[in-house]
Amino acid sequence: MIAAPGRSVILGAFFVLLMAACGPRRPAALQPPAIDIGALQRDVVAKLAGQIEIRPGLKIAARFTVDDRKEARAYLIEAWKKLGLDVRTQDYSAEGQNIFAAVGPGDPAAETIILGAHYDSVRNAPGANDNATGTALVTAAAARLSRLASPARRIIFVLFDEEERGMRGSRAFAQKLKDEGAKIHSVHTVDQMGWDKDGDRAVELELPYEGALEIYTQVASGMKPPIPLLTTQERGSDHSAFRRLGFKAVGLTEEYHHNDTTPYIHRPGDTAETVNFDYLASTTELAVRVWTLLAQGR
Ligand SMILES: [Zn+2]
Repeated sequence: MIAAPGRSVILGAFFVLLMAACGPRRPAALQPPAIDIGALQRDVVAKLAGQIEIRPGLKIAARFTVDDRKEARAYLIEAWKKLGLDVRTQDYSAEGQNIFAAVGPGDPAAETIILGAHYDSVRNAPGANDNATGTALVTAAAARLSRLASPARRIIFVLFDEEERGMRGSRAFAQKLKDEGAKIHSVHTVDQMGWDKDGDRAVELELPYEGALEIYTQVASGMKPPIPLLTTQERGSDHSAFRRLGFKAVGLTEEYHHNDTTPYIHRPGDTAETVNFDYLASTTELAVRVWTLLAQGR
């Protein structure tokens, strides 16, 4: 649509006058622009998987070496700060570092839900699906859930280091929660959420705690169209680190055990180009809706 020239000149002049009147100050009533979640997720995956520069002049190859994980962290910490989060780190060893941020009631009696994903990858794999997608999902959830008005439960968003080396990061984080005597309602971790060749948007729940299947099913069945859920006994991801210390936990993934998972796992082909961002968006919506209910005390 093109405006008539006379009108745009008048509007333009009005705009210049308005700018002059307001000066550089932002009007107090102006809200920050809504976050484009899809663009945020593409940025996270493209930068972590080395498709584009993570900072000027640098593309990382994998999040395996100390240096590349350090670059990934610097980017993620900055991205989370831009969302308004109070970002902390847990340095659990000379090389290992988890990133986390808490939102919600400061009341120590309030229960907490843990929402996490690992950000490292194996050697020689860009780790786009495994697990820049989970990192992008938790980042999008942080963007949305940190804006909930007066939630009943606290939420801790966390990005684990060294999942690919025996879940060192999530084990350290689970131990920290246990040592602090934190009142944890449940733990939800995401690993590999970018492949959906059959287009059914199905999600697997790994070893869901009692009550998890019910709330995920309630939300999934209300999506348009409904999202199929499958349960598996898969233990090979971060949720296991919490379950072994007695926390209620569940893992979320693509159809890892139902013949619709990336063929590029732990290979050089696990690139950003292979990620299905519509599927990631679909699962992000499911997760955010479930986690909203949990944050509200369900
Ligand atoms: Zn993984």
